Amino acid sequence: MTRQEMMRRAFGIVSTRRQRAVTLADQRRAAAREKLPQLEQLEQQRAQAGLRAAQLSVSGADRAQIDQALAESAACEHSIDSLLRENGIDPAQLKPAFTCPVCQDTGRLTNGPCQCVQALIQEMCQQEVNEASPLSLCSFSTFDLKKYPDRILPELGISARAHMEGIFHYCKDYAEHFTLKNPNLYLYGYAGLGKTHLALAIANTVLQKGFNVVYVSAQNAFDAMEKEHFRGDETNDTLTTLCDAQLLILDDLGTEYLTPYVSSCLYSLVNTRVCRRLPTIYTSNIVLDADLHRRYTEKIVSRLLGNCECLNFFGEDVRLMDK
Ligand SMILES: [Zn+2]
Repeated sequence: MTRQEMMRRAFGIVSTRRQRAVTLADQRRAAAREKLPQLEQLEQQRAQAGLRAAQLSVSGADRAQIDQALAESAACEHSIDSLLRENGIDPAQLKPAFTCPVCQDTGRLTNGPCQCVQALIQEMCQQEVNEASPLSLCSFSTFDLKKYPDRILPELGISARAHMEGIFHYCKDYAEHFTLKNPNLYLYGYAGLGKTHLALAIANTVLQKGFNVVYVSAQNAFDAMEKEHFRGDETNDTLTTLCDAQLLILDDLGTEYLTPYVSSCLYSLVNTRVCRRLPTIYTSNIVLDADLHRRYTEKIVSRLLGNCECLNFFGEDVRLMDK
């Protein structure tokens, strides 16, 4: 979806909200007038007094005359409120209850679209990003530790299974006790060792706790940013969505096609999230530090790995073992 389409859709939603609020208030007013015949007359008096005050003010009349009209309008208002309350009706019920009191569900303010429209667009971006991922497919309960070999690995001194059990519990704990103070995670190891599975399991758990979680593969994310850049779209919605998520999972870092523009977006993303202290989880097949430094600039790597728990995945290709 382009930004214009999102904008159109957001204004559609806002206008439906307004219609609903106004219709509901109209229905309640009609019901109240039916029940209380004097209501309509009082409302007309109030409207006339208000109109007179406005006309007097425009024609430059005496302050005393204007004040008198205003007082009359206020008196009518007071009578209406009392009448409604005496009959068990909340006066607020006859006024439209707008979802956004700032713009009264018009979506527009004098200086441009209202914050509620921006929020809707943000929601659409997030949805779009998450729809592209197999978010619902992975959970901690479907993570099978038996797939990891249990013979002792000399480089670890324990088996891959025992090592992965530690990582599994760390990730589960990370997700179950998630707060915005959680550290960043860098899950790395060769392909097929369950990094994405655990990252998605964390995403699911944290999402269910009500946090705004965005999961995206590095390739898709940076492709989208390149496209927006190419279209001359200055707003860079994808980058904004990724910067704003309370938890971002950037999967398969290192598979994106690296251009100078993508590199600057990556730095901007990593740096913004570090500055805002928002946790990020990276997964990557890049195992060696040297490879990471060769691919990215020093500036990116030091930002990326600062305040980051690095979890090294071991084992044999879990996906191959499935067969
Ligand atoms: Zn608004």
